[in-house]
Amino acid sequence: TQVPNVTLNTGAQMPQLGYGVFQVPADQVVEPVRAALQAGYRSIDTAAAYGNEEGVGKAIAESGLKREELFVTTKLWNDSQGYDSTLKAFDESLTKLGLDHVDLYLIHWPVAPKDKYVATWKAFQQLHADGRAKAIGVSNFQIPHLRRLFEETDVVPAVNQIELHPNLPQADLRAFHAEHDIATEAWSPLGQGRGLLDDATLASLAEKYGKSPAQIVLRWQIQLGNIAIPKSVTPSRIKENLEVFDFELADDDVAAITALKTGVRVGPDPDVFG
Ligand code: NAD
Repeated sequence: TQVPNVTLNTGAQMPQLGYGVFQVPADQVVEPVRAALQAGYRSIDTAAAYGNEEGVGKAIAESGLKREELFVTTKLWNDSQGYDSTLKAFDESLTKLGLDHVDLYLIHWPVAPKDKYVATWKAFQQLHADGRAKAIGVSNFQIPHLRRLFEETDVVPAVNQIELHPNLPQADLRAFHAEHDIATEAWSPLGQGRGLLDDATLASLAEKYGKSPAQIVLRWQIQLGNIAIPKSVTPSRIKENLEVFDFELADDDVAAITALKTGVRVGPDPDVFG
């Protein structure tokens, strides 16, 4: 499977579909990452908070793939925010991954009540200037948090990774990102599976296109222009989630999926979390 790339505002190419490893225990992560790389994923999304960067690094090292063929993302955890602590946490992540650079480094949450994300972003700018983070971005930022970075710092985030699925289509943030050349990356792109994938509309579209409900949702993500990072540890589903580039949803079917909006999140509220 050939996964299309999205061009980031740095000029870098990022695969539109990647593999996420949230909640995969450290001692169990090597096998599914290996399966994902074998299936054809070239983008891996981890985080310091997931506690599995070492295993991800091991799977990458053992894959035999060239570093430039891979796109590796990790994230700074909330308790490491601040200028000096960010530089230190980044070094620790690189060491665990066994890499000399990451393709994308993200601030995991704004943690606005603690008001450290601007200082944190200045450290991110330094890591970017040093070439150790090829691109820098944010996660779970709302429009006011992004505006504050625009006003007080020099680099526009390449990516905002946000909760985004048919129950939470994030129209306002997607439009804002488009206006400012920030790529939208969807976390929990399948709404974490349970519930959403049992939806009757998705079942009928699955029937119509001869695909699974998960593939219908991922195709919707792709047609909205989002980057998506579905997670599964089941080899057959890891493959299935990649097979979304051989069909196209009609516009009214895309709209029917977007209409599944409930506004209900599977994760925390980004304005207060942390
Ligand atoms: P997801 O939407 O990817 O759902 C994963 C779950 O869906 C699986 O555990 C499985 O139960 C089910 N599933 C997967 N493929 C399926 C298939 N083909 N058929 C049926 N069921 C299937 O949810 P997620 O793991 O929360 O999110 C994906 C990735 O996003 C994470 O691994 C992580 O990398 C990232 N993430 C980031 C943040 C953040 O704050 N930045 C938060 C959560 C997740």
